[in-house]
Amino acid sequence: MINEDGRDCPHCGNWKYWSQYHKNESGVMGHTSWCKMCNNKTQREGYHGRRAQSVADQVARIGEMEKERRFGALLALLEKLPQVKAREVFRRVEF
Ligand SMILES: [Zn+2]
Repeated sequence: MINEDGRDCPHCGNWKYWSQYHKNESGVMGHTSWCKMCNNKTQREGYHGRRAQSVADQVARIGEMEKERRFGALLALLEKLPQVKAREVFRRVEF
């Protein structure tokens, strides 16, 4: 699930707040798809870890693009709702 507070990390599978993700301007909601812990762990694994992450990132990006598309459609829909109601809907949406 991705919402305004945070997202699932596709690597460890845990939902975490955005503060637990590095910033990445091209990423969903301006953050990397993997949490800081997973990113750091992979970096420590060296070359093979980085290669594995690069492949994983490419696979993830295909998923991210689909999510971004759905996200954009959702945002457009929510603009028609009052602010408070929109926030409530947002929290319940599964991506
Ligand atoms: Zn993680």
